[in-house]
Parts: sequence; C-alpha cells; structure tokens
Amino acid sequence: SVLKRTSLKIGMIPADGIGKEVLPAAQRVLEALGSAIPKPEFIPLLAGWGEFNKNGKALPEETIRVLKEECDSAMFGSVSSPSHKVAGYSSPIVALRKHLDLYANVRPVSSVPIPGQQQSFKCDMVIVRENTECLYIKQETISTNPDGSKIALATRQITSRASERIGKMAFEIALRRGQERLAAPKGKESWWKGEPKVTIVHKSNVLSVTDGLFRESVRSIKEGTDRYAGIKMEEQLVDSMVYRMFREPEIFDVAVAPNLYGDIISDGAAALVGSLGLVPSINAGDNFVMGEPVHGSAPDIEGKNIANPIASIRSAALVLSSLGYVEPAAKINAAVDAVLMEGTYLTPDLGGKSTTTEVTDAVLKRL
Ligand code: ATP
Ligand code: MG
Repeated sequence: SVLKRTSLKIGMIPADGIGKEVLPAAQRVLEALGSAIPKPEFIPLLAGWGEFNKNGKALPEETIRVLKEECDSAMFGSVSSPSHKVAGYSSPIVALRKHLDLYANVRPVSSVPIPGQQQSFKCDMVIVRENTECLYIKQETISTNPDGSKIALATRQITSRASERIGKMAFEIALRRGQERLAAPKGKESWWKGEPKVTIVHKSNVLSVTDGLFRESVRSIKEGTDRYAGIKMEEQLVDSMVYRMFREPEIFDVAVAPNLYGDIISDGAAALVGSLGLVPSINAGDNFVMGEPVHGSAPDIEGKNIANPIASIRSAALVLSSLGYVEPAAKINAAVDAVLMEGTYLTPDLGGKSTTTEVTDAVLKRL
C-alpha cells in the first residue's frame, strides 16, 4: 500500500455536523506543507444525511465515480445518523468501504501529556482491525425449540485470505512506524523505544478453528519473508489484551485483530487518551486510503467553531504516511504534539477556551 505518487488528489467529503468544520482544518495543514509533498488538489464531494434529505442519496454515484477515477485518497468528516430507521437511507461510510475495498480500519492511539489533564501512562499504539468479515457478515438465524424456547445463531466467517491481507498490513504499518520514529525531529521522539512489534489478538484457546485460522494466517506473513525480520511478533488473548491495554498500554506497538475484537479494543483504547477529538483513523485497502476522525458528527457542538480539529489533522497525517510521505506526516504529528503539550491553545473538550480556527492556527505556526 505504499504508493508514492507525483500528484496528490484528495477527495474531500465533509458530510455532516462538525465534519464541515474539522475537514477544512486538515486541508489547511496539508496546504501548509509546501514542497514537502506534491501540491495537493482537493476535490469537494457530497455525501451524508444532509445530502440524503436534499437529493435523496446518502452517497451519490458521482462521488463514488470521482473517488475511483480521479482520486489517490480521501478525507471523510462525519455523518449524522437519524435516530429512527429511514426507508432508503444507509450509512455512506459503510458503502464507501465496500466500493473502495477498504478492508482495514487503522486507529493509532497515542497519549500526549496535556497540561491540566490527568494522565499517568504513556501510550503510542496502533490498532489494525479487519473490516470485512468475522461476525459482521451478519448471518443470523433464530428458531423455536419444541419446548417453545428460542435459539439464535450467528455465523462467524474467518478466511485465510482476509486474515493474511490484514496481517500484511499490520506488518507494513509496524515497518513504517519504525521508519517514522527514526524520522521524527529531535526532541519529538516517540515514547516507544523498542523494536517494532506486532501483537496478534485472538481467542484461539476457545475458538480454535476460526481464531486458530486468523492466528496462523497472520503468523505466516512474518514467517514467509525476511522483510519483517526486524519486527517482533507476539500474541495476546483478547481478554488479557483488554486488561493489559488498561494496565500498561505502553507495552504495545501494533495490534492486529479480527473485526469484532478490533471494534471493542479500539473504542476502549480511544477512551485512554482523553478526548474523542484527538483520535484519528484511516480506512485502508491496497489501492486507496481514506482518513476519518473517529468521532461522530457531534450535533451538540455543531456550528460553534469549537470542535477539536486534531483528530482530523492527525487523520490527514495518516493518509500521507500510508501514501509514502513518512517525513511530512511525522512533521504534522510533531506540530500537533507540541501544541498539545504547550497547552495554550486547547478546545473546550480538553479544558481550554480556544476555537477550532485558533487550534489550527497554532498547529500551522508550529509547522
Ligand atoms: P453521532 O451520532 O454522529 O456519532 P454523537 O452524538 O454520538 O453523534 P459524537 O460525535 O460521537 O456524537 O461525540 C460524542 C461526544 O464527544 C459529544 O458530546 C461531542 O460533542 C464530543 N466530541 C466528539 N468529537 C469532538 C470533537 N472533535 N471536538 C470536541 N468534542 C467532540
Ligand atoms: Mg457517536
């Protein structure tokens, strides 16, 4: 998935709510990188609940076409979801993942000491979640026993193909993080001091067939090549993973998990670092990457220019590094960390009084 290019065409899909406020912040930061990257071209695209109400489609065909035919990557803001089921409406983000074959959800969780925030641990890890199978194939049945009681069953699908490709992505990310740590400016080094490490999360002591296949498939990726010789590989049962992640998050670098475990541990990990407004993600496939802040549309703070833009800015850095622009990405992250550690410009979710614009300006100044 390292596709360094001479052009950089980024589809911008702000969608709903604070997505419209935080995506422009990410765009300003990308524009400020100057000659460190090819001059980015931003292509505004429509999607979301608002778009559905206006024109009847949550994800217009034109948006999909432009993404597939003209873009290298994309940034997605956030989508409002109706509180009740609405005929004809389905989430555009789920559809985008399918259309673009974005089989991995990648979520770095890193803690930065922010003045005024209590935080006694150091954490700099990435969770790589398989995004196409496991229990999410949604094959469920329910039937009634002769005695009238009910039985519900769900099918869990694990394939060697999907497990190997997510395993490969995890090892590639571990490799790249190793390089990024080397590229980080002096004084802005990561807390992670050891060699790169991939932790396979599973429960094969109970689910020996499905999780057994996941585990074996991921292991085969390292065992099949010298490329990952410098990367350590270890395993954690998912229950012990949760315990250790909360007790000593500093021991993890890259964790790779099947869909459901990945979903659960990545929300748990986000809770470690203080605000949803800090946590970025990418949806990644072999040929496309889409950055997306982990938070939702935050209707309670919409339109006030107080949404924290850092999750989006960090998502833009993730997009860059997965396109091969490792150093510019490291620069963005270092600028963000410096602003957080200084603590002068913080949005209200972090106890500050600054606006979205002021925090973005502060990051630009550091850049
Ligand atoms: P949605 O249904 O779109 O997920 P939500 O009501 O669940 O909307 P979230 O966006 O998930 O809202 O946010 C949960 C809480 O975290 C809200 O109180 C919101 O204001 C806050 N929050 C989320 N993102 C940010 C951000 N970037 N900056 C500041 N606060 C945020
Ligand atoms: Mg939410």
